[in-house]
Amino acid sequence: MIELRFCQNCESPIYGRSDKKYCSGNCRKRSSECRQNSKESREKRNKNYRLFDRAARLAEIYFNKPPFERVGMMQNYINLARNEDNHTLREVLSNKWLKDRSNTYGNPFKGKRGISCGSLAEEAERYCQKFWKASAYDVVFGLAKEPEDGVID
Ligand SMILES: [Zn+2]
Repeated sequence: MIELRFCQNCESPIYGRSDKKYCSGNCRKRSSECRQNSKESREKRNKNYRLFDRAARLAEIYFNKPPFERVGMMQNYINLARNEDNHTLREVLSNKWLKDRSNTYGNPFKGKRGISCGSLAEEAERYCQKFWKASAYDVVFGLAKEPEDGVID
């Protein structure tokens, strides 16, 4: 009895050796490229989830502090990101998706009236523009000139 088998890529019937999985070399190639791509995008997605998750937790800690404590905290975050080659923290403070208020990952923290406080990235941007006269990205990645009045310490 001949078992009918189908190409794992294009679903057309396969003739020949019983261990064949693809109708042609071309389909084998397409199929492995496809798996490779989806694996890469899955890894990227997971990485983003981890980033957003971390951003969300830090934002919650931050926004639960009274406003007068926040400047000091932001100063610490910025120093940590700059000095310890802390890539995740750098991303948390400067990632363009996190700066986007319409993105609810990473900035889900809402105040008592349900108003979004925004994300740490937004706060970092404001802080850096004010004290460094530079973007948060340039500050955390060490591209901005340090402020001369020593605000940082
Ligand atoms: Zn095929």
